Amino acid sequence: MAHIPFNKPYLTGKEVDYIYQAVQSGKISGDGMFTKKCHEFFEKKYGFKKCLLTSSCTDALEMAAILLNIAPGDEVIMPSYTFVSTATAFVLRGANIIFCDSRSDHPGMDEDQIEQLITEKTKAIVPVHYAGVACDMDKIMDLAAKYNLFVVEDAAQAVEAYYTGRDGIKKPLGSIGHLAAFSFHETKNIMSGEGGMLAINDERFFERAEVIREKGTNRSKFFRGEVDKYGWCDIGSSFLPADIIAAFLYAQVENVEDIQRKRISLWNQYMELLAPLKDRFSLPYIPSFATNNAHMFYLVGNDLADRTHIIDHLKKNGVNSVYHYLSLHKSPYYGPKYHGKELPQTDRYTDCLFRLPMFYELTEADVVKVVETLKSA
Ligand SMILES: *Cc1c(COP(=O)(O)O)cnc(C)c1O
Repeated sequence: MAHIPFNKPYLTGKEVDYIYQAVQSGKISGDGMFTKKCHEFFEKKYGFKKCLLTSSCTDALEMAAILLNIAPGDEVIMPSYTFVSTATAFVLRGANIIFCDSRSDHPGMDEDQIEQLITEKTKAIVPVHYAGVACDMDKIMDLAAKYNLFVVEDAAQAVEAYYTGRDGIKKPLGSIGHLAAFSFHETKNIMSGEGGMLAINDERFFERAEVIREKGTNRSKFFRGEVDKYGWCDIGSSFLPADIIAAFLYAQVENVEDIQRKRISLWNQYMELLAPLKDRFSLPYIPSFATNNAHMFYLVGNDLADRTHIIDHLKKNGVNSVYHYLSLHKSPYYGPKYHGKELPQTDRYTDCLFRLPMFYELTEADVVKVVETLKSA
């Protein structure tokens, strides 16, 4: 019986060609030809005002924290049920993280609990579009306007996902907050092994973002011929990827529609076959304001013992299922510093959520097998 892995990175076929072209061009450090092509692609397709490729989504989040001048004592509100980078990027600048519980119908943060967490010290809200499913951005942007806060979308999982708010306009995730961070890690829908991008929607950040990404220098301006020397202007780091990475990524972005069509069809197949089990597991929920980019197919079991049993049963039958996010407010690092409320929904997802195999080369027969194995658990 063939083993079904949890993930298998998909190659479109052009990656090595484009890497070869990047190498041949003689400019293989950052901001070469393929980086520009990627920036143009994302700016044009999704209307992000300015895009900057980074070496990871973590880098893009760190850039966001620097751009917002996050300083010791500032408070940043985010879900506890997320990847560590969402928090570490701000902790590096000295922020106190104020964790918000997840929704009962979805692992994304509960928008209705944010306002009670805002204080004089709050600087930013960082919504995470879990599984590429939008947070209710109207509610979040309204709070940001009311209390004069910044919004950084953690859109790591949210490429090709949309939000429709009260104005009825369908907007790409990453185009709504002041800043947004995307990931192109090999586990994401389109990827370059490691990789990320900062999308900047507030023009006040354009110039400084380029400086921060280039070690605190105005080298980007110099390369465009806008200044005749470049020098040290600000704090920063080396956040830009080599053009080889961008070349790989470009082969993926060119195929985003094909990749999405395939993933969505597999996701829909899972949903259809699992519908009869809706009393056994909670199935993924997509609010009416959100779209589904098929980043992930997850289920929520009854309790920790139930989940452990299911994952073991799947494994014994050749299906690799994984769980994730150990809530950050109970982590060895942040737990002792956390003095906020209990977060019962976060705890529930931490104990009960698990993910099924989801990748481009998964076949319809594989999906049938995964579902049959689940039924026999
Ligand atoms: C993957 C992921 C990240 C980190 O992305 P990297 O590119 O690996 O730095 C951050 N936040 C969320 C929600 C993620 O899923």
